[in-house]
Amino acid sequence: MPMSEAIEIYDDRMGAMVRPGASLLLLADGSVHSEGPVYFHEDDSVVWSDAHGNRLLRWSASDGVSILRDVSDYQSGNYRDLEGRLVACSSGKRAIIRREHDGQWKVLVDRYQGKQLNSPNDLVVKRDGTIWFTDPPYGITEPNQGYGGEQEQPGCFVYRFDEATGAIDAVVTDMVRPNGLAFSPDEQLLYVSDTAAFNIPQGPHHIRVYEVVNGVSVSNGRVFAVIEPGEPDGLRVDEQGNIFTSSKDSVQVYAPDGTRLGKILVPETSANLTFGGQKRDRLFITAGKSLYAIELNTCGVQ
Ligand code: MG
Repeated sequence: MPMSEAIEIYDDRMGAMVRPGASLLLLADGSVHSEGPVYFHEDDSVVWSDAHGNRLLRWSASDGVSILRDVSDYQSGNYRDLEGRLVACSSGKRAIIRREHDGQWKVLVDRYQGKQLNSPNDLVVKRDGTIWFTDPPYGITEPNQGYGGEQEQPGCFVYRFDEATGAIDAVVTDMVRPNGLAFSPDEQLLYVSDTAAFNIPQGPHHIRVYEVVNGVSVSNGRVFAVIEPGEPDGLRVDEQGNIFTSSKDSVQVYAPDGTRLGKILVPETSANLTFGGQKRDRLFITAGKSLYAIELNTCGVQ
């Protein structure tokens, strides 16, 4: 059903992204906590996590909503690899997992330096096929996000995993609760959100940006934007390099120079988002118990 028009424009660059007549649509509700949307162009569908409901869901215009996994081991962020396979963060299994072509789920990596990961939360697949993911502790500390256990890692890092060699490297080690992440269109910058303020008083609620070095590591990290209200969780980048981030009241849009361009107001607290549609100009937003979508005059990075 169409929601009321609710876009705040602070800059002409945001105005140019608004498609006249387009409004935020509620596509599905009934989740406990919607997270990690990923788009499938083959059948115009979205798969997302009911992260606290411990399920994996699917929506398509023709089929409506269905349950793909009714015990998902607290799957959170989802993405697709170069072969189109669904790769995901399993907060419960404390691992990166992948749905193989035969439908079986496989653990790709669950350890760093011999110790269990905390609880991977969100991931992206770089064009070279490596998987970059965040590892906050929420699957350990939050009863509705995992199976508990002991934290074995000395911190919460961003990792780069190369399946071809089996190597896993901690590329970002100076954040408190790294959560969402995305590369700039040329993959020369890495944006990572920090959701520490969620349950740490005075904790950061910002996005940091890092320069990618030789495609394998990062340097020169700095705060890109402080996000209010709430915290930034999932984020995505469009073809112009604009950053779309979740927040308590909206999806907020930032130019690459850090200027806040505007907000797409969402009636529930947004957790994550992805571009989809056949032209990648439809923004799908997981928020609260729901999945929303809005068409824009901009396209997500392929
Ligand atoms: Mg997240």
